[in-house]
Amino acid sequence: MQQKTKVSAVNCESYDLPLLEEKIRTAVELAGGWPEKIKPGAKVLLKPNLLSAKTPDQCVTTHPELVRAVIRELRKKGVEKITIADSPAGIYTWEELWEKTGMKKVADEEKVELLPLENFERVEVPGHGYIPLLKELKDFDVFISLPKLKTHILTKITVAVKNSYGLIVGESKSAFHATAPSPRKMSNLIAAVYGKIKPDFVIVDAIESMQGDGPANGKPFKSGIVMAGYDAVAIDACACTAYGYKPQDIQLLVKVAELGFGDIRRENIDLVGDAAERLGKLKIPRSKSDILHRFPESMFHMLTLIMTYRPFIIQETCIKCGKCFKACSQKAILSEGGSFRVLKKKCILCMCCLEACPVKAVELRSPFQKFMAFLNLFKKKS
Ligand code: SF4
Ligand code: SF4
Repeated sequence: MQQKTKVSAVNCESYDLPLLEEKIRTAVELAGGWPEKIKPGAKVLLKPNLLSAKTPDQCVTTHPELVRAVIRELRKKGVEKITIADSPAGIYTWEELWEKTGMKKVADEEKVELLPLENFERVEVPGHGYIPLLKELKDFDVFISLPKLKTHILTKITVAVKNSYGLIVGESKSAFHATAPSPRKMSNLIAAVYGKIKPDFVIVDAIESMQGDGPANGKPFKSGIVMAGYDAVAIDACACTAYGYKPQDIQLLVKVAELGFGDIRRENIDLVGDAAERLGKLKIPRSKSDILHRFPESMFHMLTLIMTYRPFIIQETCIKCGKCFKACSQKAILSEGGSFRVLKKKCILCMCCLEACPVKAVELRSPFQKFMAFLNLFKKKS
């Protein structure tokens, strides 16, 4: 009989450190214990989700206290060489990213290294050309993925499988959206990249998850769970149920399974822990752009021009920093007299401008919402 893949889900109500350490310990034990490679002398890479320079309460990035708790647990196993690394989607300095996300404080206090993702080597990803991956990756003995449970406007959810995509170096992540403009194509690309960077172990921060228009513009949702396991695909197949999805609803998971990188069939996954049942009952609100996934590929671009939610720059909120302009690989943001606006025809809905904006001045709006905003403006003036 085929052995089931173990995934654990453990209740954890807060980021209080002693509680977190205890819950992480339990989640790891239930998932089968730490990998054997975790031992004195091992070089360990921790990869949280550091999508952009946001504070922990905004729920965009993996909480620093979860990273701290993992470091302390690894120390107990005698691991000394620990490095934290991730690459943001927006245009931020490394210092700004690490400071805002709380990683600098954790790294300084726990005496671990923060590695800027700057060196790369090009790795062939079948069907997608050569992709620049973190060069130092091969120097580590163990890669532990520390994703956040979030929605994603293109891939529906972002958890463990997508977290590996963050090891692509630099702004090229934005440029790849140009070659994979639809949710389906983007999911296929991320699945192929995952095949090149599979983690050895995963611990998911689902204590506060993201609801709505993730990965950057959603709102926090208190879900109170830590998940762990060896197989990122199996973890995502369980995690998606928190939003009421089945694994088969997520193109990214369908594709990784098709490529043979994991099994998404729930009958082959053993979900254990005191939060195992509650996980699938959380009903975390999804992104409103889920509707995009119902379009046939051939109609995708045409239909998105007419009726899709698309980025809109709120001039009253915009601080004119130009980060969206620099992040746009399609030159779909026009800079005019110090102001910025989105050119609908050029936009491929990669959402990099949303991720890059530090003040939430880029919002997703449908043509109908734009019309209503115009009417309100007109009413105020008259
Ligand atoms: S305007 Fe924004 S969503 Fe559109 S292509 Fe540029 S970065 Fe992507
Ligand atoms: S929309 Fe946001 S990122 Fe773009 S210029 Fe304004 S504040 Fe900066």
